[in-house]
Amino acid sequence: MEKPEWSMDDFEIGKYIGEGKFGKVYLAREKQSGYVVALKVIFKAKLEKYRFHAHLRREIEIQHGLDHPNVLRLFAWFHDAERVVLVLEYAARGELYKLLRTVRRFSERTAATYVASLAGALAYCHKKQVIHRDIKPENLLLDIEGRLKIADFGWAVRSNAKRHTLCGTIDYLAPEMIEKKAHDHAVDNWTLGILCYEFLYGSPPFEAAEQDDTLRRIVKVDLSFPTTPYVSADAKDLISKVTPWH
Ligand code: ATP
Ligand code: MG
Repeated sequence: MEKPEWSMDDFEIGKYIGEGKFGKVYLAREKQSGYVVALKVIFKAKLEKYRFHAHLRREIEIQHGLDHPNVLRLFAWFHDAERVVLVLEYAARGELYKLLRTVRRFSERTAATYVASLAGALAYCHKKQVIHRDIKPENLLLDIEGRLKIADFGWAVRSNAKRHTLCGTIDYLAPEMIEKKAHDHAVDNWTLGILCYEFLYGSPPFEAAEQDDTLRRIVKVDLSFPTTPYVSADAKDLISKVTPWH
């Protein structure tokens, strides 16, 4: 899918997939090749309201430069007076999050496959100086074969310097982000441990009724493993070795 100028006329628009903060996502087919993609349509009016231009451009540039089997491809993008349109790889099986909630927890074999895919994708991103910083189940999509794809580079930053901003969803935050200390690619690796736990137990390790308690538990690395026949000693060993890398 290489072409200097794309426009809406190049696509047949199919079903509506869903809506995010800044735009809507549709299934679409590229007319020439018949190739099925997802189009993320973002209205410029919304961007102006939130002054998100620079942010979006950064999201686009970062994702466009990445090519890995476990990173959702951004094939192309274009804009007209009203909209910015992202031509994305279509992840037919949707959010990993929904699958996890349906089956409650994954077997160690299934979890291992997802963790390995995620680790490979993160190693690739980190080698290219890209930190995602918002790895969580909602940002992990599945393609038609069930392969994991990291999506949503909304918060990703290209950097080899340490970053200082507080962002991301609270259960997956690394201690150094909560304490607003300098942080680097290690924050994505931390999240790998949190997700591994959630895949096996069905909920993230530092969950609490109050957000403040979650934050306190994360900073203390208050990690405990409920007794269950589903999680082996080896898996627990892996999780506790990934989380205190800090
Ligand atoms: P945010 O605005 O914070 O990113 P979001 O992730 O919910 O919120 P979008 O990324 O715009 O919003 O996605 C909207 C919906 O479309 C979500 O349900 C998402 O899972 C789905 N979706 C997004 N991109 C794709 C894709 N490439 N293939 C399949 N489904 C997708
Ligand atoms: Mg999203």
